[in-house]
Amino acid sequence: MEHTEHTPHIVVMSPHGGDGDGAEHLTAARWHVTGVSDEIEAFSTLRSGQADLVLLHLPVQETMDMDLPAVLRSVADDAYLPVMILAGDADEDETCAYLDSGADEVVSADAAPAELIARARALLRIKDLHDQLAASRASLGQALQRERKLMTQLRRDNAELRDLATTDPLTRVQNVRSFHDLLAHEFHVAKRYGKPLSVLMLDLDHFKVINDTHGHPSGDYVLKELAVILRQSVRESDGVARTGGEEFAMILPRASRDQARCFAERIRQEVDRRTFSVHGHDIHVTASVGTATFPEDAEITDPEMLFYCADQALLEAKESGRDRVTAFGDLAPEVRRRLRSGYLAVGGPAAAAASKAAS
Ligand code: GH3
Ligand code: MG
Ligand code: MG
Repeated sequence: MEHTEHTPHIVVMSPHGGDGDGAEHLTAARWHVTGVSDEIEAFSTLRSGQADLVLLHLPVQETMDMDLPAVLRSVADDAYLPVMILAGDADEDETCAYLDSGADEVVSADAAPAELIARARALLRIKDLHDQLAASRASLGQALQRERKLMTQLRRDNAELRDLATTDPLTRVQNVRSFHDLLAHEFHVAKRYGKPLSVLMLDLDHFKVINDTHGHPSGDYVLKELAVILRQSVRESDGVARTGGEEFAMILPRASRDQARCFAERIRQEVDRRTFSVHGHDIHVTASVGTATFPEDAEITDPEMLFYCADQALLEAKESGRDRVTAFGDLAPEVRRRLRSGYLAVGGPAAAAASKAAS
């Protein structure tokens, strides 16, 4: 409420509808005055327009019997509506009774007009402060609500961003970066608690031919469906990631070399059994899989070497005819020695980390 521009609206309630009840003094004070003669009129005036003050000129008994100040305030639906009593010749007891019934001020009907106006003005000042407080509360409530909405949106955006940063958009499995983060974490856990940790690398065989024969979108469909197969095959704690175009990796915590080999074989068979139907065409693919296991594969000393060894096992599966599983531990000792030296010669984990950062 703009205090300087607002003309106070005073409702005067008396048996004669405000006539001769001090209303003329209030009007002279350039205030807007509405006279009402009974509660029905009073209610409708209070409901239809904002009143700033009610002046009651009624017998004390009537005021108290009807609990009038409280009733008028609730009808006005206002945070605070001051009620002033114009009392004929109220003694002390009557004045107290008026105030106890909820009135804010009792003024003698014989009081000078200036006093009546000054007391009304004092109540209007309090009303103005109440209104300002109510408005501040309301805008604070709105600001809090906006803040809450923003926080909810922010949390949603953050979750989406996290999802975008860690997920492969085509297949919805983890992306390379997220895979390496999880691998480092699981390696640390496996080492600390002396548990095995296996990594499985899977690459579709001759996938280029699938694209060339059926088109790239059909190839995409196969990749998406393959990701579903992989996700459904693993436990919640296992990680599935797309580490290349048609290449996927899986982290298998607590899986020994034999368990990883068995698991890989199950996946290979599942892919082999599956027919991917796209636009009326049946597509059949096979997969080659390599696995490596910490600490059974003794040369593995860091997470990136675990990844490297699984990749080398995959290469061996490809070279030895595809559509098969090779565990790193199945490679001949001299091959493993050569691979280990090769890995260390290019800088070991440092080189792996550099190539990861570049990817
Ligand atoms: P190999 O058995 O030796 O793995 O043969 P390959 O044809 O699968 O491997 P190569 O590396 O020669 O080709 C990979 C193919 O994967 C070629 C490329 O077009 C396809 N590819 C890579 N990313 C995507 C993709 O996002 N969508 C589709 N549809 N194809 C992809
Ligand atoms: Mg391939
Ligand atoms: Mg490949």
